[in-house]
Amino acid sequence: MLQTLIQLLSAGNATQRAMFPALPAYSRGLPGLTDTACAANQGCSACVQACPAEAIQVSPGPAGGQVSIDLGRCIACNGCPAVCPAGTIVEDRSTRVAVRRREELILTNKAVTQRPAQLPHTSPFRRSIHLREVSTGDSASDLEIAASNNPVFDASRFGIHFVASPRFADALIVTGPVARAMHEPLRRCYEAMADPRLVIAAGASAISGGLHRGSYAEAKGVNAILPTAIYVPGHPPHPWYVLHGILLAMEHPLAIEAAPARLR
Ligand code: SF4
Ligand code: SF4
Repeated sequence: MLQTLIQLLSAGNATQRAMFPALPAYSRGLPGLTDTACAANQGCSACVQACPAEAIQVSPGPAGGQVSIDLGRCIACNGCPAVCPAGTIVEDRSTRVAVRRREELILTNKAVTQRPAQLPHTSPFRRSIHLREVSTGDSASDLEIAASNNPVFDASRFGIHFVASPRFADALIVTGPVARAMHEPLRRCYEAMADPRLVIAAGASAISGGLHRGSYAEAKGVNAILPTAIYVPGHPPHPWYVLHGILLAMEHPLAIEAAPARLR
């Protein structure tokens, strides 16, 4: 008993103090775009061929190829940065990746003429939020969400609490592709919540149906069923991604700082 107590006291604090650090070397990041010209004009389409998620489109353009990557479909396999000969696509190791609009997950190196206006900040959950997780079939994302609540990431230090019933929840955090069999249970879960309420889609499957998109299961992601306020990319999303999405829903200052430079 004494030995255990000594070990506990000498272990120190496991919680990571630095918020949203770059991913460690052993984790795979999402793809990012640089301003280096794409070689699509010379016939390259290696990234499109490598992508198992059909998340990339390329086409010739006047100043080099035009590339777009849908991070809402991307499973972070690292295939496209690995095969890109020009360095147009690189691995993005940043962790502040959640967004409030689906279209913000489309990266592009095309000239951006007009950036989307900022959404008004109106979250009623600025001090705390209670979440009910609904898994529609993505155990990996479920594990990462559970990890966001462990002593290392320590979601509860921000007033983030997971609850057992939608009746006690401010937000649903949904994982998995939301196949047809889950449409009605998910709707009922949402209807059991009191207003105000919001929905967070966590992971590529929940955002777009992921690799199940277009299958007989009619998996189209959460926003085909429920209004979705926050999108957390990744497959599965790293706990920092998850925390970013939840803090974005709370409009926490740590989450709404300018995201790292990316082409959009
Ligand atoms: S990292 Fe994403 S976008 Fe790139 S090939 Fe893999 S799934 Fe496709
Ligand atoms: S982004 Fe890279 S891999 Fe894709 S078409 Fe352009 S040069 Fe080729």
